[in-house]
Amino acid sequence: MLVSSKKILDKANKGHYAVGAFNTNNLEITQAIIEAAIDLKAPVIIQTSEGAISYAGLEFLLAINKVASQAKVPVAIHLDHGKDLKLIKKCIDAGYTSVMYDGSSLPFAKNVSNTKKVVAWAHKKGVSVEAEIGALAGKEDFVSVSAKEASFTDPDQALDFVKKTKCDVLAIAIGTAHGALKFKGACHLDFKRLKQIKTKVKMPLVLHGASGVPGELVQMANKYGAKLGDTKGVPDSQIRQAILGGINKINTDTDLRIAFTAALRKTLKDNPAEFDPRKILGPAKELMKKVIMQRIRVFGAVNKG
Ligand SMILES: [Zn+2]
Repeated sequence: MLVSSKKILDKANKGHYAVGAFNTNNLEITQAIIEAAIDLKAPVIIQTSEGAISYAGLEFLLAINKVASQAKVPVAIHLDHGKDLKLIKKCIDAGYTSVMYDGSSLPFAKNVSNTKKVVAWAHKKGVSVEAEIGALAGKEDFVSVSAKEASFTDPDQALDFVKKTKCDVLAIAIGTAHGALKFKGACHLDFKRLKQIKTKVKMPLVLHGASGVPGELVQMANKYGAKLGDTKGVPDSQIRQAILGGINKINTDTDLRIAFTAALRKTLKDNPAEFDPRKILGPAKELMKKVIMQRIRVFGAVNKG
């Protein structure tokens, strides 16, 4: 059933587990997400970025996600990293049940005022708002540790931010990064900071850039011709520790992209005579589903739907 992400995440906050938020931009990915959630009786968040919307079209993407949300598990349809206020308003009016406003790169006061605007539009329609404070490292954005930590979420500023904006869910920066190469050395998330933030704000917290980037998927893709280069994700042990520290929504995009690519390359290589799109994309969907199920198990969300 279609619900707001606040409803799913407040429950996860009380129950000390995390809900998976998976990015989609086509039919097969949405099917993989919803089939995994149904099989595990888990709540799930189906999210689309602004890039996904420009690729597939808002109405088309929303239509397939709405069909998926008719399943017997709680499903939220969420806009990931909304930066364009007009598009955010459009998503709220079109039927998304959750939106993120990402003003994390703006000065604090501007992030506050824009987030407040989005909260006013969204709450009128029962739509939840995720906002972000602190900055994640980008793809090739490796800076010195001290400079990196300077962009991590400040606990006092986070409290001030949620009091001023009345957002429902907060994305924080504690050391993860977007993309397939998240760390040059070992992965060390700032759990001390996470605890300080959670103690102050108490609301559901979101971990972005949290894909595991499993070695066997990368090897499979590379074996069949991909050149994915250096990759490194967040190990499951760190994910579990982050959930213990108060993370309730975990975003995953990269792992699905790698699974899709690996399975697609294998299928095409192994079946050169095949030209039926269903036979070519089916295995890619199945592998993404397997990855999503593994993630949901690590998040502790099995049977919480
Ligand atoms: Zn993100």
